Amino acid sequence: MSLKGFGLYVHIPHCLQKCHYCDFVTTTVDTPPSASGEYVTGVLTELRHRSFSVRELSRGPLTSIYFGGGTPSLLPAQDILAVLLEIATAGFTRTSDCEISIEINPGTIDDEKLDLYLAAGVNRFSIGVQTFNDASLRACGRKHSAEETRKTLRLFASRSLNYSADILFGLPHQRIKDLQRDLSELFEFSPPHVSLYNLTLPREHFMNQGRAPDDEQARMFETIELALSRGGILRYEISNFAKPGFESRHNQLYWQGGAYWGLGVGAHSYLPQCGKFGIRFANPASMRAWHKQVENSSKHEPFWSKLPPAQVERLQLHEALTDFFHTRLRQTSGFLWREFQEFLSEHGVCAARAKNIEFLAQSRLKKLASRDLIIDSDGRVRLSVQGYPLANVVFLELTFAADEVIGEENLTP
Ligand code: SF4
Repeated sequence: MSLKGFGLYVHIPHCLQKCHYCDFVTTTVDTPPSASGEYVTGVLTELRHRSFSVRELSRGPLTSIYFGGGTPSLLPAQDILAVLLEIATAGFTRTSDCEISIEINPGTIDDEKLDLYLAAGVNRFSIGVQTFNDASLRACGRKHSAEETRKTLRLFASRSLNYSADILFGLPHQRIKDLQRDLSELFEFSPPHVSLYNLTLPREHFMNQGRAPDDEQARMFETIELALSRGGILRYEISNFAKPGFESRHNQLYWQGGAYWGLGVGAHSYLPQCGKFGIRFANPASMRAWHKQVENSSKHEPFWSKLPPAQVERLQLHEALTDFFHTRLRQTSGFLWREFQEFLSEHGVCAARAKNIEFLAQSRLKKLASRDLIIDSDGRVRLSVQGYPLANVVFLELTFAADEVIGEENLTP
């Protein structure tokens, strides 16, 4: 199977606070962790014990490495360097333009740390701006102030670095005019990339109080999109915008069906070339269970073959198909029918069966096109402008059940 790229994700769970809306696997620390603490030692052990199987399977060089969290920038820069060195020692090579990203929270970086990251090879930064409104930051439970965010952004803008700003909207008591103020402040720093997050909360969550109704939140999204496109920062995925050439390679890997190995507590992996339709597996979300599993991993056999069944998902055809549509259609470029045909053939689906599956997919897509939610023209399928806010409807229609693809002989026109 041809590789669409191959990435490593390294999860760093430490945070200075637990934000009220966050459901990531994180652990709160009062002071930044010390260099090469227990957690980083665990990641290094995971690399030493498990690289062999992943490397054997992936073969190609790494196209991206992503330190996410949590707040990876809380770690001493030496720890990031230690992980990058161990990745090389474990035998992973990198493409010459391998993207190495790290998530940064305002107030956790200075000139000296930034220099160390750059010297280690980090070439992209993702900054958790969220909002420039101090009251909203406090309402979210975040410790940094808007002034710290400005200082961090000034540092990156002054050095013309490749960075992304995360913006959170739909916050309690936030209205469109507040969002416009956030955007005009953001533009002063001319970010090359912006990721948008609409605050999502369970129904009974206390932060729901004072939030704009759904239709106003939809208008907020439109307001942001319009402002960004006027500023030359263009949408390339449902919630991601970039100046041309600054799209995130690591995230594109997820949306294009590339392989990735997730290291660290709770990290997820996807190896499309393993088994007939690929496998997904996840590390335990408990620190103790993760450490134990990594310590006990055999160095010489695929470690995923020994994981408890609850941690591993061996994909079947209907799941691989569903993944194909749900990931490719997130991108403004959508997918080419030719790519879909290649995907079926790479997974060993015979020509007759592939024809029937294509017919099944086409009938669903025709239905969506008749509602103006997708565009299917010149061999390319993508979401329409009306389709973006209703992407969940599109994805639901393009979710396949096992019995729909095993009895597809009946579907031939
Ligand atoms: S800083 Fe990010 S990862 Fe950490 S608790 Fe807040 S939202 Fe979650």
